[in-house]
Amino acid sequence: MDSSERGPMSRREIVNTVGTGLAATPTVSGSAPAQRPGRAPTAQALTDPTSKYPRPPFQRQAQPWPGLASEMDPRPDHGETSYRGSGRLLGRKVLITGGDSGMGRAAAIAYAREGADVAINYFPSEEPDAREVIDLIKAEGRTGVAIPGDLRDEAFCQDLVAKAVSGLGGLDTLVSNAGRQQAHDSILDISTEQFDWTMKTNIYAPFWIIKAALPHLKPGSVIIATTSEQAYDPTPDLYDYAQTKAATMNFIKSLAKQLASRGIRVNGVAPGPIWTPLQVSGGASQQKLEKFGGQTPMGRPGQPAELASIYVQLAAADASYATGQVYGSAGGSGQP
Ligand code: NAD
Ligand code: MG
Repeated sequence: MDSSERGPMSRREIVNTVGTGLAATPTVSGSAPAQRPGRAPTAQALTDPTSKYPRPPFQRQAQPWPGLASEMDPRPDHGETSYRGSGRLLGRKVLITGGDSGMGRAAAIAYAREGADVAINYFPSEEPDAREVIDLIKAEGRTGVAIPGDLRDEAFCQDLVAKAVSGLGGLDTLVSNAGRQQAHDSILDISTEQFDWTMKTNIYAPFWIIKAALPHLKPGSVIIATTSEQAYDPTPDLYDYAQTKAATMNFIKSLAKQLASRGIRVNGVAPGPIWTPLQVSGGASQQKLEKFGGQTPMGRPGQPAELASIYVQLAAADASYATGQVYGSAGGSGQP
């Protein structure tokens, strides 16, 4: 494997690099290379975002819910070969729901490369995707804890937090990211069972998990929830889903106010159209999938990897005054 394929540096490499300076680092004065901690490992070339990733049209494709990233065409990029850490989250203990694929997987990879130990939850049928993520976390020399289970069950949500705390030896970062999205042209097509499924996954599960996690969160801890551009500008085919994302945006703001005095920050990420299994397992119609992301000013969907650094930034201790905020990433459309 050559070094460009190898992805991130190990922690030992980072420490060595920081200690010796990088011979190739250009300096303004032309004198000896500057020794700036953390600089070289994350240096990135100027890249045109419009041509960085695939654009529509995409192949029509459908998978049974909840879908697997490994079976998508093209395969999503979660930063497997590109994300480089610099120790920003060294020693942190993180639980991510929906950590097997999509934004949760991108966050899991980035957090591990920033030095965190990471527990991921996923639906049991997503074991193949989850295994890949656990292997990637362990490849960084970090602890990776796999906790499959159905988030619609309150008892499981409590058990999930307990298992994460015991597997990680504590908890300071909770990423409430799992979500259920099924497109329906009409409200008349949404059964009570489907409506309940969406509400249980997107609203009840975060409520149960945050309640169970709170006693473990010390000052400095963070909660990050994945909301959506749908919270602000819903499409007609996502009647039930969009209102759960508005609720998520809202609880980010109320909880941030409630928990600020305890030193716990609460923030959110609001993605636009991102190429993930959620979209090919009922989240989008086949017509929408073919043109997926084409309506954005960028003219393409986002890839999960493009949001990883946002999850890192919101978790990092140097973002200490940011709470109650929602960070959008939607290719030029979307709010806020
Ligand atoms: P994804 O399919 O990769 O992730 C969603 C995850 O939710 C699944 O991997 C699954 O593990 C988990 N999940 C769903 N129901 C579950 C249940 N009952 N029990 C356990 N786990 C369950 O797709 P994604 O797009 O990365 O989704 C992550 C978050 O991003 C979701 O909250 C979604 O609403 C949000 N989002 C996605 C987009 C997009 O275009 N993909 C846009 C805005 C917001
Ligand atoms: Mg998945």
